[in-house]
Amino acid sequence: MGICGGNKINHKNRFTYDGGYDGTTMTTSIVLFGPPGAGKGTQASKISEMTGKPQISTGDMLRIAVSEASDLGAKAQSYMESGILVPDELIIELISNRLKQEDAINGVLFDGFPRTLNQAIALSSIVDISSVISIEVPDEEIIKRIVGRRMDPITKEIYHISFKPAPDEIQGRLIQRKDDNVETVMNRLKTYHQQTSPLSSWYDDQNLLIPIDGNKSIEEVATDISKFLSN
Ligand code: AMP
Repeated sequence: MGICGGNKINHKNRFTYDGGYDGTTMTTSIVLFGPPGAGKGTQASKISEMTGKPQISTGDMLRIAVSEASDLGAKAQSYMESGILVPDELIIELISNRLKQEDAINGVLFDGFPRTLNQAIALSSIVDISSVISIEVPDEEIIKRIVGRRMDPITKEIYHISFKPAPDEIQGRLIQRKDDNVETVMNRLKTYHQQTSPLSSWYDDQNLLIPIDGNKSIEEVATDISKFLSN
């Protein structure tokens, strides 16, 4: 049985909204891959704007679940706070449900998913992936970026205490993610190297991996990604 409980989502052969059959359309999704703090979220909004594909961030969805104290949130919270991965079954169910929404019909942009081989295999059975954009940043840079990261809870804009300071008038309302402390970041990086980074060679073997140097400014990284996407 497919991971969607038998209702396999086939992005290759979809019925159009007016009931016709669009056998010619090949809709594909993009995966944004990389360590925590590589700038995936920042670049995802830009790519989403360029491609029109909605951004699906499992991290954001889980944080909403935790803030709403839903069943999923209760199950995920302790994993997230320790910097380890939430079990695959929960994540795959979350993604499967999200992909049933209408805006996913023309493919989506995955941000922070898949993170394990099981997730990647499950994903390959429900959508077509056109490319895996891998943003590469060294660990020491990641630690600096994450520990100084702050968010404006109203606009959701991400700032950094040294690299991108927020305007004085909003300084007082900035928040730091609970898992953005040194200890949890070290765990998140360890988890990334053990469970997630091996996926890059898995995708490379399928000729889907697009390595992007993420150790540059936000604008430079965005330009490199857009050059690739416009080809
Ligand atoms: P992120 O915002 O993407 O860094 O995710 C924050 C935390 O949510 C991670 O440290 C994990 O605990 C959890 N998480 C997010 N996405 C996934 C995923 N695809 N698989 C397992 N856990 C995830």
